[in-house]
Amino acid sequence: MEIGEETRLKYRYLDLLRPRLQKNIRLRHEVVQFIRQWLAAKDFIEIETPILTKSTPEGARDYVVPSRRETGKFYALPQSPQQYKQLLMVAGFERYFQIARCFRDEDTRGDRQPEFTQLDLEMSFVDREDVMALTEKLLIDLVKKITPYKKIQEIPFPRISYQEAMEKYGTDRPDFRKDKNNLDLLAFGWVIDFPFFEPSSAKATEGKKTEWTFTHNPFSAPKPEHLDWLMKKENIGEILTTQYDIVLNGFEVGGGSIRNHKPEPLKKVFEIMGLGEEKIIKNFGHMLSALAYGAPPHGGIAPGIDRLVMILAGEPNIREVFAFPKTGDGRDLMMGSPSEITQEQLKELGLKINKSE
Ligand code: ASP
Repeated sequence: MEIGEETRLKYRYLDLLRPRLQKNIRLRHEVVQFIRQWLAAKDFIEIETPILTKSTPEGARDYVVPSRRETGKFYALPQSPQQYKQLLMVAGFERYFQIARCFRDEDTRGDRQPEFTQLDLEMSFVDREDVMALTEKLLIDLVKKITPYKKIQEIPFPRISYQEAMEKYGTDRPDFRKDKNNLDLLAFGWVIDFPFFEPSSAKATEGKKTEWTFTHNPFSAPKPEHLDWLMKKENIGEILTTQYDIVLNGFEVGGGSIRNHKPEPLKKVFEIMGLGEEKIIKNFGHMLSALAYGAPPHGGIAPGIDRLVMILAGEPNIREVFAFPKTGDGRDLMMGSPSEITQEQLKELGLKINKSE
């Protein structure tokens, strides 16, 4: 029986009784258990990182939490554990992973949730090929074990540069499937060689200095042959990053990169983004000083668990693989959140609500 989405979300505990959701949530459990065991057997250590933290830029707005003890100060919920996992590399945990909850405050996008889960991993003494090979092996083994009736179209996964993807497919999430009617076909692929920076406003006026922002991750290293341009802040639009994205049937299911493991190039990235010395130190001083102690070369990736399970389950929307999802515009219809807090709570936090008409 088809039931409206709003009703399903409001009475999620009843909706979850249905075989479809029972199956999806159990599949999700199997996927996560498989990943944990697979990585632990390869000497990865699962480490939890904080939820109450400080902004880590991943290209979205932060969710913030007011501090009661320090009026006017805020924690940010992590957009990803990016900085912590790199600091763990400095700290000698050479292979880290976490089934990590991430929070990104983005405007309504039907297939996104404000909080989502990714397999976050990072490795020391590796280059791009090592991380890509490990990820590929993990995904192939996972599909073979958990959904053996699925067929992976091409192994090793094909690779395409960002430029070629845009020219050929008009998107950086190409759908490589040769037969879109075959619901059991999985077409994995890699997209590589992304530009590091893009102009931060679409309407950059002529004559005005271009303002740049990162395309994926400010902590990434440039491709080695472009390090020189980065250091000299030259040909900024042409610098390519070591970023690699993994796509599956036209969805981006993860991305990662090799990082700047020395402080100077990382600082240049922030300078190119227009951050002054003071701001760089205030926001990222801990990263620069950690790297200055001597960090091993490192890199990682973060495949999204929700999207992956959605595709394996053959579902059209990620809400179908969350036990308790929110609506497309970020509301939890069952709990009734977000919701107002009491005057006392506001007072304790030193906050005043300014409701515009
Ligand atoms: N921090 C990145 C993300 O959340 C993933 C990575 O580069 O490892 O998208």
